Amino acid sequence: MYNRPEMFEALYACFKMGCAAVPINFRLHPKEFAFIIDHSRAGAVIVSPELSESLMGIRELIPSARHLITPAGASGKLLDYESLLSGETDRWEDADVCPDDSAWLFYTSGTTGAPKGAMLTHRNLLAMIMGYYADICPGFGSQDVILHAPPGSPSSSRSGRNCGAWRASGRFRTGTCASASPITWAARAAPVRLRFWKESRIMEERPFSDLSYQQFLDEEKLMGSRCRKCGALSAPPRPICIHCHESDMEWVPMSGFGKLAAYTCVAIGPPSMIAEGYDRKNPYCVGVVELDEGVRVDARIEGVNARQPETIQTGLPLQVVFLHRGEDEKARTCLAFEPLPT
Ligand SMILES: [Zn+2]
Repeated sequence: MYNRPEMFEALYACFKMGCAAVPINFRLHPKEFAFIIDHSRAGAVIVSPELSESLMGIRELIPSARHLITPAGASGKLLDYESLLSGETDRWEDADVCPDDSAWLFYTSGTTGAPKGAMLTHRNLLAMIMGYYADICPGFGSQDVILHAPPGSPSSSRSGRNCGAWRASGRFRTGTCASASPITWAARAAPVRLRFWKESRIMEERPFSDLSYQQFLDEEKLMGSRCRKCGALSAPPRPICIHCHESDMEWVPMSGFGKLAAYTCVAIGPPSMIAEGYDRKNPYCVGVVELDEGVRVDARIEGVNARQPETIQTGLPLQVVFLHRGEDEKARTCLAFEPLPT
């Protein structure tokens, strides 16, 4: 489903009735829709009008989907979303659900094989939202309101997920943590109050957030945070120490040297990488780099042969390099590492 009100209605309906939602990215191929719907044994599929033809084209591949529903009105075997709603009573009792029940199945992209459905519980979603809150909004209180504007996704950074299918199975009883979702925060945002990060060129005053981390990268600095109480390092920075949970942090520069801890070569990248010329014939490498300071960062790995991943060895000594891409408002710096000269 594309971003539209019915997507939120369906999502929260799943939570309240004890189903697990199965969001599907509308950019996928119909065969990928079919795999995910069939693999999850979704009992019903709600589909945007723009995608209904694709869905009907895979009808035989998704026998478990007993109900196909669209907000565009009944047509052929497609049921009308509004008619179904108006035909039911307004009375409702929430399902008896627990925080550790599955809230949704989140399918991977399937770059290296068939997609896998990660089972996220309501507690998982709550932790994800609170992590976002701690990282991006330190200092906010219970009276603050956030305007959160991703593509209709409560998982913060995931891109549009759609074609809302759900699994109506007794094995997937779910709890509700709806009040913790940024969608709800956004819905409450009237009047909306926005706070912007205080512009500061002074390093010490920058909040310990991913945004600051990126700003430093733009200045060709790889920075981490250090807990003043226990000395624990974090890179990217964290506003709260993961060891002692104190929030008295300071910025520290990283040396920029480390070794390759893990890597993968990507043949089907996001649009920004395709624009750089990467594709199946010209894959690129990304990895986890363990810095000399002991912390691990994600980065592009340059100067290795991504066409022959077997030639890349973990433990490879690396040094930092800052890749500048785009211009003016689209300018962005990408953290990368390259092998140390031998
Ligand atoms: Zn600490």
